Amino acid sequence: MRFVDEFRDGKLARAVAHAIAAEIEPDRRYNFMEFCGGHTHTVSRYGIPDLLPAGVRLIHGPGCPVCVLPIGRIDCAIALARQPDVILCSYSDMLRVPGSNRTSLLKAKADGADVRMVYSTLDALEVAAGNPDRTVVFFAIGFETTTPATALALCEAKRRGLVNFRVFCNHVVTPAAMQSILDSRQGSGLQTVPIDGFIGPGHVSVVIGTRPYEVFAETYGKPVVIAGFEPLDIMQSVLMLVRQVNSGRCAVENQYTRAVVRVGNRKAQQIVAEVFELRPSFEWRGLGRLPASALRIKPSYGDFDAERAFELPHASAPEAKSCECAAIVRGLKQPTECKLFDNGCTPEHPVGACMVSSEGACAAHYTYGRFRQTRKSA
Ligand code: SF4
Repeated sequence: MRFVDEFRDGKLARAVAHAIAAEIEPDRRYNFMEFCGGHTHTVSRYGIPDLLPAGVRLIHGPGCPVCVLPIGRIDCAIALARQPDVILCSYSDMLRVPGSNRTSLLKAKADGADVRMVYSTLDALEVAAGNPDRTVVFFAIGFETTTPATALALCEAKRRGLVNFRVFCNHVVTPAAMQSILDSRQGSGLQTVPIDGFIGPGHVSVVIGTRPYEVFAETYGKPVVIAGFEPLDIMQSVLMLVRQVNSGRCAVENQYTRAVVRVGNRKAQQIVAEVFELRPSFEWRGLGRLPASALRIKPSYGDFDAERAFELPHASAPEAKSCECAAIVRGLKQPTECKLFDNGCTPEHPVGACMVSSEGACAAHYTYGRFRQTRKSA
């Protein structure tokens, strides 16, 4: 297949669904976590659970970058935006994520802070170049997919001598989150969800390759299939996982061969290694504080590090009352199990981060109306 429509072909999707139904063992449950928020979006948008037999369950994982950032870091970004002479730049979703007491960057902007939405890190650099008398802070978030672009901006800032540019770095690392989900199944005391395999993230794997997941197959005995983002990609990946489970195999397989190779993108990895290093630990929403799970700016780029330049609040902050985002990013609850879902929390007025980004499980369920069908048939 070469064109995107072919990856959305309903006839082919039904054929794969029939193959899955024919191959599952009737008394067995197959619990597969789709790690990535992009997959969560596709699963909801195309109604994939309706195509799958009852024995196959998809569980949303912690792969939405907006959702996993804890409220304490949002509070830090808001504090930065309120500093005199600061322009804070970030991607649009981040502007609406609620911080403590239902504040947000958008509300800080309404109160007079200079908060600007950018489409890329290079846009933020141009803001810095155009405002030499102000300090421009880029609020950087995301998994390995977006990290190289931030690294590139830092290299470029150094090359151009943009001494008024800073990055507030919140880049996180995918394998650490997957490991946390699996370790919690091995006696950490955290509530767990059964997992028989992972639908692995596609965009992240373009950068890091398939190799970092091998430990999950070899040590944890969990199959991983790296998947693309179209509905047929997901369906085929489910079939590949079912076949591994049935045959007792645990391997990393690559469904997304049109974009992912085992070693990943070495150029992107090099630029990330030039600029960033692992933090000893980092707090995630829903997963707690995880060792070696996020990046910070290396001392050689320390002049551009917003955390060195400003005194920031370090306290963790509690979730909004009744918000179940922490349980949702662990796969423990469905969005509809939150009593605020469509009852005070909507994409227009989000209470928690999972309702903000289109990759968030709550926003995906709300946007594509799956809960409405469930309520109708209840
Ligand atoms: S519906 Fe809203 S309040 Fe409930 S878990 Fe989702 S984002 Fe949080």
